[in-house]
Amino acid sequence: RIENVDFYDSEQALFDSGKSYDVYIIDIVLKNTSGDKVIMKLKDRVPESVVIAVSGVDNIKTISRVLSIGADDYITKPFNYDLFIARLKTNIRAFLLLQELRRKKDQLETMAVTDALTCLYNRRHIYDRLRQEGEKSERYSSRFSIIMLDIDYFKKINDSYGHLFGDLILKKVSDAIHTTVRNVDIAGRYGGEEFMIILPEVQLKGAIILADRIREKVENIQTDAPDLKITISGGVAEFIGGDVEELVKKADQLLYKAKESGRNCIKF
Ligand code: GH3
Ligand code: MG
Ligand code: MG
Repeated sequence: RIENVDFYDSEQALFDSGKSYDVYIIDIVLKNTSGDKVIMKLKDRVPESVVIAVSGVDNIKTISRVLSIGADDYITKPFNYDLFIARLKTNIRAFLLLQELRRKKDQLETMAVTDALTCLYNRRHIYDRLRQEGEKSERYSSRFSIIMLDIDYFKKINDSYGHLFGDLILKKVSDAIHTTVRNVDIAGRYGGEEFMIILPEVQLKGAIILADRIREKVENIQTDAPDLKITISGGVAEFIGGDVEELVKKADQLLYKAKESGRNCIKF
């Protein structure tokens, strides 16, 4: 079904409208402007749209030029109605296929970097971003910190309440992380019940505050098991140059220290 059909009698009116469409049908002989210019502008601003040129000009040179600058089709006037509709349908068919392909590609790209259970980034992506952040920091002297978190006594939770319940806790903890960090922060599931958060442009002090805020939020997670208290431990470290592996090691050691000193705390 075709809807939202509008008509514009000048280039100005079209671009001033601020609207974009899936299909454009343009007469290439225009007042005050050239159809070529409008087609190129459209292909620049709405690259995924279908642009069909319509014209009384039927010389081969013009047709090839208009197609080569980006028009998807060229229909000469006066046109036969059935032929026009058939060409329109062909173009729309291609458009829809491409749209579906783009959607699938986006979906796959998201899946490739996402942990299915928690919807946080997966380990591979978090490492990619960590290396990027390390390079950025070396080049621009920007600072960043990381937080490593691990759920306390998670094995016991699984053993007492079952694996499905354990999965639910993993999701709840992930939600606590997700709702606390900012959009620019990179939060991922590092391992089974371990999480890593990369905080670009954040120094140690800020990272500690954030880690503690997450720790508190996790402490307040409510479940169907009334007596169960979920807690996490964490290690926080700021990058000071060198290998990012060293940074991870440092945060990991601090996390271990947090476990040793009784859990439900953040070490830095
Ligand atoms: P600690 O306080 O020292 O961290 O103790 P812990 O029991 O949390 O630590 P440990 O690393 O020994 O156990 C982690 C457990 O996490 C073991 C594993 O069964 C569980 N686990 C890992 N991945 C998943 C998962 O995807 N779902 C569930 N339900 N459990 C998982
Ligand atoms: Mg644990
Ligand atoms: Mg662990």
